[in-house]
Amino acid sequence: MHLEEMKREIKNLVLDKGFYNRKQDIPKKLLFAFIELGEASDAWKKGKSKDVIAEELIDVIFYILDASRLACPNVNMDEMFLKKLKKNKSRSYQYGERHRLVNRSSNSM
Ligand SMILES: [Mg+2]
Repeated sequence: MHLEEMKREIKNLVLDKGFYNRKQDIPKKLLFAFIELGEASDAWKKGKSKDVIAEELIDVIFYILDASRLACPNVNMDEMFLKKLKKNKSRSYQYGERHRLVNRSSNSM
């Protein structure tokens, strides 16, 4: 499933469940995304299962895509993802993290 399909499914869920669905609700949705990030971090710190952590991260994606649906409805998120990926790939090694001074050879996990 691609991002645009996910947006449509999320919209249907939002409408079916009567969740916030106005442009004024965008800040709430972004706040909820942060809350879900916190839940993912908490799950990780508590050693919860990978499924629990993944579910919290999916919640983040839900809220972000839902916010994008309202904030920039005419932007194709699949195309934007590819555009941003290309932009990030064109940047230098450790862009924005040069303070870490990690060698490429020791940067594998
Ligand atoms: Mg959650």
